[in-house]
Amino acid sequence: MESKSTDSKLWREICNIWPEFYKHVSWEIGCGDRARFWLDKWAPGLESIWHEVVDTDWIPDPTAKISRFVDPFGQWDKERMIDLIPQHIINKILCIFPPNPSLGSDQAVWDPGRNGQFSISNAYNVIVNTVQRHPSGMWKVLWKSKFQQRNKFILWRLGHDRLPTRSRLASWSPTNPSCLWCSRSRETNMHALRDCPKIAAVWRLFLNPRDRALFFNLSAKDWIGWNLQRNKKFASIPWPSIFSAACGLFWHWRNKKLYESDFQFPWEAHRVILIQARLQEEAWRPWEEERISCSGLAKTWRKPMVGWIKVNSDGAVCRSSRRAACGGLIRDNFGNWIKGYAVNLGHASVLSAELWGIVHGLSITWDLGFRKVEIESDSSHAINLIQSPWDVSSNFHPLQQKIACLLSRNWEVKATQISRSANECADTIAKNSLASSTGLTILDVPPCTVASVMMRDLIIYSSRDSGG
Ligand SMILES: [Zn+2]
Repeated sequence: MESKSTDSKLWREICNIWPEFYKHVSWEIGCGDRARFWLDKWAPGLESIWHEVVDTDWIPDPTAKISRFVDPFGQWDKERMIDLIPQHIINKILCIFPPNPSLGSDQAVWDPGRNGQFSISNAYNVIVNTVQRHPSGMWKVLWKSKFQQRNKFILWRLGHDRLPTRSRLASWSPTNPSCLWCSRSRETNMHALRDCPKIAAVWRLFLNPRDRALFFNLSAKDWIGWNLQRNKKFASIPWPSIFSAACGLFWHWRNKKLYESDFQFPWEAHRVILIQARLQEEAWRPWEEERISCSGLAKTWRKPMVGWIKVNSDGAVCRSSRRAACGGLIRDNFGNWIKGYAVNLGHASVLSAELWGIVHGLSITWDLGFRKVEIESDSSHAINLIQSPWDVSSNFHPLQQKIACLLSRNWEVKATQISRSANECADTIAKNSLASSTGLTILDVPPCTVASVMMRDLIIYSSRDSGG
């Protein structure tokens, strides 16, 4: 099915949605006059023969009807298949009763309906998945999700048509209803978050061509439901997280534009969205990590090996003010304090705070002249970033490059993830620095709150040592 720009809107929409719709159509073979041998779903258990063909370039006529594959004796014409289709698929075809001129026309069957009967409501429900048939279930999924609270609200308001868009404001106040980005259309809720050409261009980068038609045609609620369920990952971030981060950012940028007329839509907005989604994922991970990590990780602090020093680093983010800090300490192989550092970072994410802690820890130990350094953090993601080779394409955090540079110097650095309980000294310093003024403070002596935790580290250490 094809549409031209001169066709009616309805027809164009139907053409758009067709591929999604047609996925659910299969054929009952009669005389082989309508179903297409390669492209249609007619062999039970197979999507289409086309999917099974190794090299589709060799298929002379992809739209050939099934009757063309029958020999003069009414049997399947194996010769026509043998070079193109894998043998096990040919075997399957041979088990199917070949089309026969004595039968009627091939019949299209609507898969999901009972008895193959087609109904509009059934088709719609199948296409938009099952959750949306129970909108309350969808909202439960949303509220339980780990998205930022703000983004959940934006999605909820979108689904209930309560976003304060310009079109909505214009219905009771003298507001210009047109979109801030394109000024061509009214800024309705779906225009603001999906349909504006500026926004749609970003979404398109995350969609394969087959999903686009559906994506841009669903109603607000169905659209949210479809996205919350979409089982896809980009850069190992689940789609629903990217989706919520994107909606949050689109709305945020729209508001910025409203109040700062010189604000520009971000260049490479999709990257900004991915970074935001990743940080959002990370912000929640420490809690989950704690549960998961209990088994494999060291629960108590251990002294470094002789000749080595150990840096413990941590980040902290205040959940209400969103202010962030990091801090850490350097100890010798007797567990003695060498130096500490406390940094108030202003606003930053959890992951950034963790990574800044590592950057400062490494810089300070390098400057102090140590060349055998163990660094420990309780953030698995931070440790993973350090351990995995840095390359431009997978660079998700600006600090990754900085850390890679530090590590490439002429020294030995071992990075290890430890449990939160083993990292309590660093945790205490990081939390204390939330209250200090912005910037780096070098600590020559341990603050008293940290000194007591250090003592505990050593007591646990020696009791464990003497015990066995
Ligand atoms: Zn627009």
